[in-house]
Amino acid sequence: MKVLVPVKRVIDYNVRPRVKPDGSGVDLANIKMSMNPFDEIAVEEAIRLKEKGVATEIVAISVGPQKAQETLRTALAMGADRAILVQTDDTVEPLAVAKILKAIADEEQPGLVILGKQAIDDDSNQTGQMLAALMGRPQGTFASKVEVADNKATVTREVDGGLETVAIELPAIVTTDLRLNEPRYASLPNIMKAKSKPLANKTPADYGVDTAPRLETLKTVEPPKRTAGIKVADVDELVTKLKNMGVAA
Ligand code: AMP
Repeated sequence: MKVLVPVKRVIDYNVRPRVKPDGSGVDLANIKMSMNPFDEIAVEEAIRLKEKGVATEIVAISVGPQKAQETLRTALAMGADRAILVQTDDTVEPLAVAKILKAIADEEQPGLVILGKQAIDDDSNQTGQMLAALMGRPQGTFASKVEVADNKATVTREVDGGLETVAIELPAIVTTDLRLNEPRYASLPNIMKAKSKPLANKTPADYGVDTAPRLETLKTVEPPKRTAGIKVADVDELVTKLKNMGVAA
């Protein structure tokens, strides 16, 4: 079974994003970029399926600029077998990414597509769901456990108030939640080996997908600055203060 793993290059999760002075977006100049953390979990899960003998080949895919090659090389160093870069300098919205992934899935015929539940830059949480709809295949989103047997995936999902387990027929789409696994670090020998693994260069046009934006960003602002805390003498004072702030009844 082949597994496709879409991986997005995003601002590193440790970096504090800076909003551009004109509010048109986030300043990406000289910022450390890394693989979206949920996608690292997706790559790890695919590798574990391969180690169990369930998956036979892992294909990492990224839609983004030339530099997204680095993200793909990271996936290859972790254990993916080959990679596809769909190169574009445009901002590609989830719908266009999902259309590109659908076209690749038509060519590659995977048993599973494992995506992150969300990209930490746009926080859309849409691509996996849109891909499932475009492919007309079942989805198990927010996965904290995935088991594959008898042409089915059993996916434990993190939902409000608990866990839900669903059985979905393959081919299927899975999106990863934080507790699914702990991604491995690539070892130095594997980083070296990854340099010679195949990486195909494509464009959205190769898949007939128009990436023109459908959304318009009106403005981007910094989160409000945190104000200083205050000390209270006792619980009564705390309750009075909270009541005055309209927090407690
Ligand atoms: P989003 O819907 O943007 O929150 O992204 C959800 C998931 O879709 C990510 O965790 C990735 O697995 C995948 N994805 C989104 N954008 C891209 C992209 N440009 N290239 C590759 N994968 C992507």
